[in-house]
Amino acid sequence: MPEHVVVTGAGVIGLSCAILLQEAGYYVTIVARDFPGPFETMDPIAQINYTSPWGGAHNRWVPPHAASPPSVHREHAFSLVTFSHMQRLHSAHPHTAGITFLKGIEYIESPGPEYKAITASNPLPVPNFRLLPPSAFPDDKVTWACEYDTWCVNPMVYCSFLLRRFVHRGGRLLKRTLRSPAEAFSLSLPSPSPQQQEKVTISAVVNASGTGLVPDSSMTVTRGQTCLVAEGCDATVTRQNADGSWTFCVPRGFEGGTVIGGTKELGNWAVEPSVAVREQLLESFVRTYPKILEGSKTGGLTVLRDIVGRRPTRVGGPRVESEVLPGGAGFVMHAYGLGGRGYELSWGVAEEVVRKVKGYLNEQERSRL
Ligand SMILES: Cc1cc2nc3c(=O)[nH]c(=O)nc-3n(C[C@H](O)[C@H](O)[C@H](O)COP(=O)(O)OP(=O)(O)OC[C@H]3O[C@@H](n4cnc5c(N)ncnc54)[C@H](O)[C@@H]3O)c2cc1C
Repeated sequence: MPEHVVVTGAGVIGLSCAILLQEAGYYVTIVARDFPGPFETMDPIAQINYTSPWGGAHNRWVPPHAASPPSVHREHAFSLVTFSHMQRLHSAHPHTAGITFLKGIEYIESPGPEYKAITASNPLPVPNFRLLPPSAFPDDKVTWACEYDTWCVNPMVYCSFLLRRFVHRGGRLLKRTLRSPAEAFSLSLPSPSPQQQEKVTISAVVNASGTGLVPDSSMTVTRGQTCLVAEGCDATVTRQNADGSWTFCVPRGFEGGTVIGGTKELGNWAVEPSVAVREQLLESFVRTYPKILEGSKTGGLTVLRDIVGRRPTRVGGPRVESEVLPGGAGFVMHAYGLGGRGYELSWGVAEEVVRKVKGYLNEQERSRL
């Protein structure tokens, strides 16, 4: 009988890991406090610690540079893997997966060395990358701009699609709140085969709980306030301002409007949105990309909802690594702390998780022979 793996967490990371583990031949149960549902019914306060509904979510390439720490190179590799998975899913399920392929545009006021190293003769090696000429800059504060092909998702359409895919292929779900990933080893799970009555032995646990559920002094949150408007947009546009603030839009597609953002506030736990911040975000975005008003019936943006989310941030980069619990009490594969890049990195992280789980379980099998 195939080995049984429990994935704790049904955000974008847990769902991606669960699907790839299933494809690798394991029986998989997802155990989580929150599961995907319609975005419109999500409770902004009760579910604030479930980050996946509150993300944009787009893919913005973050260029690695010779001076970048190893985590940036690793994340870039994860984002390339994710891009390929998104292409495959989108072409197989263009109307149901919640994925949109579109142009990504970046405007930067004060580019760092990683951007200055990118030139026409040394472009960022991503699909249809092109530096934009100064005549295409929105104003004279912007000194560097580019465009490329990328993708956006409507988060809850996409996550619900992943959840259905997992369940239709035999995956199990269990709604529970755990105190630690280790607790998952003591769950009593029904046998996947009705003929077999014995209790399921859990061979490995994947910790995709967002914040980690384990003592980790590097973990914090990065608060993000954004605003959902009804208008669509023909591109996902990001502007990095010289003062460190961000102006961006993420078209969600699938009747999901467009997210206009956004703040990045390290260590801020406030749950309530600020109307003044919303007004400033909308005004900055329209100044940067007035084209968004072309589809507006009123000449302005139609506010549907303020959004506040907590990016599960791990200083130094996400934890994607394995741990054998003391006394051989179990194998835990950690995949948490994805910060503001959970969607962008999801399939790359999931491939790494499967590699590590397989490696450990194959080794265990060999040592039993
Ligand atoms: C404003 C904003 C904009 C963003 N924009 C983007 C973007 O454009 N692109 C991008 O890639 N990312 C973006 N992100 C980040 C992205 O949303 C996160 O990185 C991603 O959602 C994290 O996913 P996750 O699966 O790790 O965690 P989560 O989505 O938080 O899922 C955690 C899972 O673990 C479960 N869990 C937690 N604790 C327990 C427990 N004790 N017991 C049982 N279950 C538990 C939860 O119920 C949930 O199922 C944005 C985030 C915000 C807030």
